[in-house]
Amino acid sequence: MAYIDFHTHLHQYADPDGCLAAMERADIMAVACSVDVPSYLATLALAERSRRIIPTFGIHPSRATEYAPRLEGLLPLLEAGSLIGEIGLDQRWWRQVPKRDQEAVFSWFLAHCAARDKYCVIHTKGAERRVLEMLDYYKVTKAVIHWYHGPNSVYRRLLDRGYYQTFGCELRYSWTVRRQLRQTPPELILAETDNPTAEKWLGGRLDGPELIGRVVLDIARTLGLRPELARLLIFGNAIRLLGGGMPALDVTKTSGA
Ligand SMILES: [Zn+2]
Repeated sequence: MAYIDFHTHLHQYADPDGCLAAMERADIMAVACSVDVPSYLATLALAERSRRIIPTFGIHPSRATEYAPRLEGLLPLLEAGSLIGEIGLDQRWWRQVPKRDQEAVFSWFLAHCAARDKYCVIHTKGAERRVLEMLDYYKVTKAVIHWYHGPNSVYRRLLDRGYYQTFGCELRYSWTVRRQLRQTPPELILAETDNPTAEKWLGGRLDGPELIGRVVLDIARTLGLRPELARLLIFGNAIRLLGGGMPALDVTKTSGA
């Protein structure tokens, strides 16, 4: 059973060959999110070399100003994918990107996803309430919230709407994120590494796609599950989301750690 990394930016790896080899070695599949057109094309090129990669098209809020005036030109890229991302809003690290540009781009993607019944992978940093409002406005039912670390009241409402949640490197370092995980219905839990520098940014030493194994272990520890059960739970959730026929795993019916 493979590990499924549900949010990573493979285009950021300096050594793509090494990255693909590591994925092969550790039996990893990845939802490889882009942040703009060049990163999407780079991700598509990688996906042509490995069936382990699911490339997704998105415009990250940091790139919104460049793309807001020419969204219609992106339509063929948007139409091509059944899974969209990374999209969203950022009011912590990318405040210099005008809100109106971020919201114009995010709105355009959300309207498309809602109309075509597609899942989208969403960044919420510092703009959690506004993201929730916009998801409600566009009546988005299929969303994957990536690396949420924000107000718990908003988190509860995201869970009420049945959105999947990815958990990553920060589990090891943040009580808040561990608390969020414990509140999350098991059938909505996914795992991610985000990018090659996320763990080092948090003060750790690891990098590389294999980090997903550590993340799954941290999920298991936080929930008091055996590691192989956590791995199966996350695999099943990802496959179900991607359209496979895996039923939800009832972790309460299996023994704990
Ligand atoms: Zn990301």
